[in-house]
Amino acid sequence: MIKRSFIGLIKPRMRYQAIELTPPEPRKIPAPKQVTLLLNEPYDPFGQGKSPQLKKGDPIKTGQKLALYEDSDAYVVSSATGTISALSALIGDFGRSYTAISIDVAENEEIDEQFPALVKDTSLETVKHFLTFIPGNLPDVILSPNGSSTPIETIVICGVDRDLLITANQHTVVKESSSVKRGVEILKQITGIDNIIIASPEHLMQDAGLSGAEVRVVNPVYPASLPKLIMRDLLGRVVPAGKTCEDLGVAFISVQAVASLGKAFNEGRIPVYKHFNLINKDGTSVLVSAIIGTPVRDIFAAFNIDAGEKDRIIFGGPMTGESIYSEDHPIQPDTDAVMIQDQKSLALVSDYPCINCSECIPICPAKIQVNMLVRFLEVGKYQEAADEYDLYSCIECGLCSFVCVSRIPILQYIKLAKYELGRISRAEETNV
Ligand code: SF4
Ligand code: SF4
Repeated sequence: MIKRSFIGLIKPRMRYQAIELTPPEPRKIPAPKQVTLLLNEPYDPFGQGKSPQLKKGDPIKTGQKLALYEDSDAYVVSSATGTISALSALIGDFGRSYTAISIDVAENEEIDEQFPALVKDTSLETVKHFLTFIPGNLPDVILSPNGSSTPIETIVICGVDRDLLITANQHTVVKESSSVKRGVEILKQITGIDNIIIASPEHLMQDAGLSGAEVRVVNPVYPASLPKLIMRDLLGRVVPAGKTCEDLGVAFISVQAVASLGKAFNEGRIPVYKHFNLINKDGTSVLVSAIIGTPVRDIFAAFNIDAGEKDRIIFGGPMTGESIYSEDHPIQPDTDAVMIQDQKSLALVSDYPCINCSECIPICPAKIQVNMLVRFLEVGKYQEAADEYDLYSCIECGLCSFVCVSRIPILQYIKLAKYELGRISRAEETNV
């Protein structure tokens, strides 16, 4: 899988995992005793004059829309039937605040009737009000294509997987072609955008073609499937430093979200099962299907995986995934992989200084002088890193961290720097 150069003069070539042409069905995890849904709105137990919509003990149906307050835009969709057992604050990466809604799952499932009653109305409003929490996650930009500075003109469906050892999107291309086709029709209808492209691995071109979107082939070598490289290689458009694909009128959506959209309207109920890869301690990867909100603990139990205290659990793939710190952490609509690494084989990060070996420079697809950038990041000089060493050109592929002989967590430094600069800039805008 990972072919490292034995003399370090050639870039390591890491090929994406290619799914078989007739892949087996994902292993289905039974419904857990409790699901936890992460709502993207801070929890305020006192409500501060707002009218709370949820409380402990409330009965909940599968497919029911759950919002904290009457006037909240943020909502989740319950993936199970049961009773709310807790509402609590949860702080995620970089201090992001969520409300964790825990639901004790009942034996008998009841489907909420609100979405099924509207299923004949394939409008943007219906999608906005019920389908932003579907497996694969609907990005905001799809729901407001004219809301950004540049109106969206092109939608790119990612039929490729973003990281190594992951096949969840490819599986959807092969096994859910009729849902994807319906999803593409709905996307066209609700956005008014006809220019829809599906980015596919070469071996799945035929399956991808069934979607009705224009097929373009992605290079099988990492990190070609990251959006900014798809923009450059498949659309011939370079995203300038500090700009996003949306700024150039292009929106990205995962093929799983497109299939979920199609399935919701085809079947008249909101899908709740998320496909993702479970990457075990020995590096083997297996496709799994579990309802959104299932705790990681239940996934490990189904595979007899014993998570030791010092083992590392990661959401996402080996290059760009992020650590989580509790087996209670739930599967999210955008979880494409859960990886566990044995503490004995962990590639530990260090606080050794950069030794200027230059390994990170030729590997960087954004041609950043990473050895210089890292010097500013290590001492918290984020603005200088942005002004002088191209911080905002970084596409967050993680290749520099992978090759760094000093084991400096460069990607994490980069993400932290961007987050801090974003926070400062938002605070300045608010105080103007
Ligand atoms: S993560 Fe590292 S290698 Fe990748 S684009 Fe950013 S600086 Fe370059
Ligand atoms: S690979 Fe690591 S040690 Fe080598 S130059 Fe880059 S940051 Fe420095």
